[in-house]
Amino acid sequence: MSIDLHSHTTFSDGVLSPNALVQRASNNGVGVLAITDHDTVDAISDSLLSGNTIRLIAGIEFSTQWENTGVHVLGLNINHRSDAVSEGVRQQTAARLVRARKIAEKLEKKGVPDSFEGASAISAGHYIGRPHFARFLVDSGRVKNMREAFKKYLGDGKAGDIKKTWADLPQVIQWIRDANGIAVLAHPLKYKMTRTRLKRLLECFTRDGGQGMEVVSGKQIPQHTAAMAELCETYGLLASCGSDFHAPDTVWSEVGGFAPLPGHLTPVWERF
Ligand code: AMP
Ligand code: MN
Ligand code: MN
Ligand code: MN
Repeated sequence: MSIDLHSHTTFSDGVLSPNALVQRASNNGVGVLAITDHDTVDAISDSLLSGNTIRLIAGIEFSTQWENTGVHVLGLNINHRSDAVSEGVRQQTAARLVRARKIAEKLEKKGVPDSFEGASAISAGHYIGRPHFARFLVDSGRVKNMREAFKKYLGDGKAGDIKKTWADLPQVIQWIRDANGIAVLAHPLKYKMTRTRLKRLLECFTRDGGQGMEVVSGKQIPQHTAAMAELCETYGLLASCGSDFHAPDTVWSEVGGFAPLPGHLTPVWERF
């Protein structure tokens, strides 16, 4: 039985419904699964929580920025009906809408008109993010695939990379703690920071009340796991692991598909 504490559904940018995700996790031998959609808890319902053979953990993945880098913080084992989560979701949803308008303005200047309307139609009325703009760029034939859309238009430093959108790091950590959840820094390696800068981030994160970090995020090389484990110990954080599953056919982030946490760390689920 494995434990996967990071996954997405159709309620954010995943492609499986909550039920299909849980079924896939179960088939893959996952015994505990956290659903952590971006800035929303809409996937988490009473029927989903009660009607399953595997243990489901209510979660969320909040977007924030730290020193101009987009950073993600997981809230694990949250009370998804708390006022704190409602307020967090409300603010982040509003921020997403403002950001989407700004992305569209920037794309317009790059010669891509009507992307707000295009991305909105694809998002079908809830949760709008860069993947919807990427899909629009693919569908309208401007790029070959999602990857190219991020590389040319939406990724780090590109037109659609809008800074200062989100609630700040102390605020998202506070929402999670107020919802009785555990704040976990998501996929630290994804930010492509130098080790010195990542240590500064971890200092801020722990000082602001962050409690854990993802030591294992999907399939990663053993050297990366060792490096993250060392930082996890240094900062006295709880260790988490998850696939960051979004879609089938992505071998590096299959639900339940990653190496176990190093045994000497304190797993975050001991506090659930
Ligand atoms: P947003 O939350 O709107 O900033 O969108 C970020 C999401 O876009 C991430 O959670 C990923 O799922 C997805 N994403 C980021 N980079 C890429 C990429 N290069 N190719 C495809 N999807 C990406
Ligand atoms: Mn995503
Ligand atoms: Mn993320
Ligand atoms: Mn994620």
